Amino acid sequence: MRKHLIGLQASHFVSETDRKALEALKKLPVLPMLVQKFYEHGLDRWMYVHNMAMSVRCGPKQFKTIYEIHRECCAILDVPEPELYVSSNPFPNAFTGGVERPYIVLRSSILDTLTDDQIFDVIGHELGHIKAGHVLYQSIADCLKPLLEMVGRRTLGLGDIASIGILAAFREWSRQAEFTADRAGLLACQNLETAMGGNLALSAGPSRFSHEVNLDAYVDQARAYQEMSPADNFGKAIWFFMYGFAATHPMPVSRTKEIERWYLSGAYDNIINADFSKAS
Ligand SMILES: [Zn+2]
Repeated sequence: MRKHLIGLQASHFVSETDRKALEALKKLPVLPMLVQKFYEHGLDRWMYVHNMAMSVRCGPKQFKTIYEIHRECCAILDVPEPELYVSSNPFPNAFTGGVERPYIVLRSSILDTLTDDQIFDVIGHELGHIKAGHVLYQSIADCLKPLLEMVGRRTLGLGDIASIGILAAFREWSRQAEFTADRAGLLACQNLETAMGGNLALSAGPSRFSHEVNLDAYVDQARAYQEMSPADNFGKAIWFFMYGFAATHPMPVSRTKEIERWYLSGAYDNIINADFSKAS
């Protein structure tokens, strides 16, 4: 039985790095114009309708098991129920959209890769994005280049250097926001091994050798990554500029190590053992 965290607030689990990166993002002078263009062109509505056309909506009569897991996750994290969809895609992933009308999309391959318990972690992760108010900024990040072109051409005359700085601020926040969402995932599935096992399964991908995976060995690998020699750190820095600059998600080993660190800090237990309903 998983505990329902009635009265849970985003501030209870938002990571400090996410909060600071979002603060920096909100200070960008161009941000209000990007938000304005995003709404002016009806992009939120367009993406919602596009998803509705391409995916299958879950409900009591459609993908009943997944829908019930979804409803339970909403109850655990005390989040109003967003719409849930399944879409065919061979690359395991999930995402959230819809500023005005939030929805979560699970790709078919993520459902085939993960156990039911790990699906709690994935849906909890996506609900964490909604609860933490990430969806507007994620949606803008998804169509940032055309939005920047619109604003740059018509309003600011932004050069490439300025645009790269804005892009980098979005990417940095986006990566930090994942750590917040991972915490919500753990709060939903309520088992560290389940959460880390999900990262392992998604990193390795589905295969006929999946029964031979070993979580302890993977966690050792994540620790080894964090503890590499100074020479290797230089390599990591080069890699960051090649890969990290453009990446919207942190590397899976970093996420595994970070969720373990957060759990071991006692923060997870503090939330699970708290009674937030009395505070409200
Ligand atoms: Zn995410």
